[in-house]
Amino acid sequence: MADINTMRDDSTVYKTLLESTKAIPWKIDWATMQFAYIGPQIEQLLGWTPDSWVSANDWAERMHPEDREWVVNFCVSQSKSGIDHEADYRALTKDGHYVWIRDVVHVVRNAEGEVEALIGFMFDISERKKTEEQLANLRKELEEMSYKDGLTGIANRRMFDSVLELEWSNARRSRQPLSLIMLDIDHFKEYNDQYGHVQGDECLIRVARVLSQAATRSRDFIARFGGEEFVLVLPESDEEAAGKVAERCRQLIFKEQIPHTKSPVSSVLTISVGVGTILPSHQDQPLAFVESTDKKLYLAKQQGRNRIC
Ligand code: GH3
Ligand code: MG
Ligand code: MG
Repeated sequence: MADINTMRDDSTVYKTLLESTKAIPWKIDWATMQFAYIGPQIEQLLGWTPDSWVSANDWAERMHPEDREWVVNFCVSQSKSGIDHEADYRALTKDGHYVWIRDVVHVVRNAEGEVEALIGFMFDISERKKTEEQLANLRKELEEMSYKDGLTGIANRRMFDSVLELEWSNARRSRQPLSLIMLDIDHFKEYNDQYGHVQGDECLIRVARVLSQAATRSRDFIARFGGEEFVLVLPESDEEAAGKVAERCRQLIFKEQIPHTKSPVSSVLTISVGVGTILPSHQDQPLAFVESTDKKLYLAKQQGRNRIC
């Protein structure tokens, strides 16, 4: 079938095909490191005319300085070993911007097996890179969100678990006391009944904001434990120090003077607080520590609320 005329037609067809795809074909002679060919599409993408691509140097120079060294080294060493390869890098445009490119390279050898030329395609992957970046940002945001309480904006229970575990091992290693403060709003059910759930939500946001001011050291940590319960982790704090922070929590909330007319304890919103301190040993478990502190909170409730145990 393939007579000489169709062969000639074929090469025209190939050239047309090569120059009408979005991928940009190119060829470099290995011996001279000169461009033997580069598709005219390169001008549309980067602004540099095809005949301005003379040697491999032009290629290296039109690359983001942060990418240049590893890309050039990688491509040269792969080519020397005769291995087909690909590299992503930022190519410089004529007007000084950068475009993400994926260069896919095939190593051509002669009959003796020596490298003769490199041929390849450059692909514009800037859209993909943009998407990847956006995905990474979204992932980061999601991660932050999954550690954040949706209502109050402070850390959530999941974050508390992670922080406690971390500070637990710190305390064991440094043999420093670790303190925990658990607090719960008094008669919050009645608050909701009296003022409605929406105002109840607003009250929780306010309480979270106020409690965030109670602990001042950089590693002090506060989270919403759930519902109307909050928890503070105080590393390197003994009973006395933790007691002071607990009292500050109680005072700060009281000073807010949030009306709570249905509370049997006071005319304003109050909290009950349980404080625990531990020098964790091998037998101790964080969960048991949380439970024993929670029992103290329960005790504060039993003893009349608006107090610290
Ligand atoms: P106590 O003094 O014994 O703590 O009484 P309490 O009514 O505060 O205790 P309880 O734990 O029985 O009730 C807590 C209430 O907190 C019940 C629930 O409706 C309310 N609550 C929990 N989470 C939220 C929330 O996100 N928003 C609002 N508005 N209310 C909440
Ligand atoms: Mg309560
Ligand atoms: Mg409760």
